[in-house]
Amino acid sequence: MAKAPVGKKLVRSKSGMKIVEIDGCYRSPFLLSEPHWVPDKECSRCTGCQARFDFLKRRHHCRRCGQIYCSVCSGNLTPLPRMCFLDPVRLCARCSTVTTKENEFFDKQLKALTTGSTFKLLPISDVTMDQFIVTCKLSPDYRFLEIDGMPEDTLEPIDVNQVISLKIKCPNNMQGTSQPTMVTVTFSDQQGVNREITLDTGLPSSPTHKTSRSWIVGLQKAMNMIFEARDVDSQE
Ligand SMILES: [Zn+2]
Ligand SMILES: [Zn+2]
Repeated sequence: MAKAPVGKKLVRSKSGMKIVEIDGCYRSPFLLSEPHWVPDKECSRCTGCQARFDFLKRRHHCRRCGQIYCSVCSGNLTPLPRMCFLDPVRLCARCSTVTTKENEFFDKQLKALTTGSTFKLLPISDVTMDQFIVTCKLSPDYRFLEIDGMPEDTLEPIDVNQVISLKIKCPNNMQGTSQPTMVTVTFSDQQGVNREITLDTGLPSSPTHKTSRSWIVGLQKAMNMIFEARDVDSQE
């Protein structure tokens, strides 16, 4: 049987074994709660192909959305780390597509986010009128945005769960595709005051420009997942 690493424990859920943090308050901001399962009696046909359920055509719940499908329409066994499952779980086609994209993000881009990139931090009106060259990165536990390169105590790490919005500036380039060049993060600070910072990728000729642009793309994907996890929790 699998053994849980320090600080984590294995728990049994109706969908399989899960590995969860012992101290709930340190949970990753990406984690999703399990959905409400649509009761069997409320669903006589598959949500996907509309086939009628009977003794041969059985009901199966998608572990991500909780809707009921036949075995064909929920046949995508997909790893779902956002719900902490150890083994791949049954998902509907839509949830499987979303989850597979997210898993690619966890495999590749998340590492770049925690490695960090270089930005020009635009003046923060109530703090400083100076511009700083900073390194911005996601903390190893994914719970804070850390900004290094400022004088001490100017800017506390930003709790990702206190981020209110991201505003991304994407001027069209010559090929007509949009590339982010700047991001404004609005957040509530540790005193509960709403503030914002703007990170600029700098001149296209700068050696870190490309990395910083993809860092913003990664941040947007990460925050979309975190906003989604927050929405799910607030519906409970
Ligand atoms: Zn079906
Ligand atoms: Zn689903």
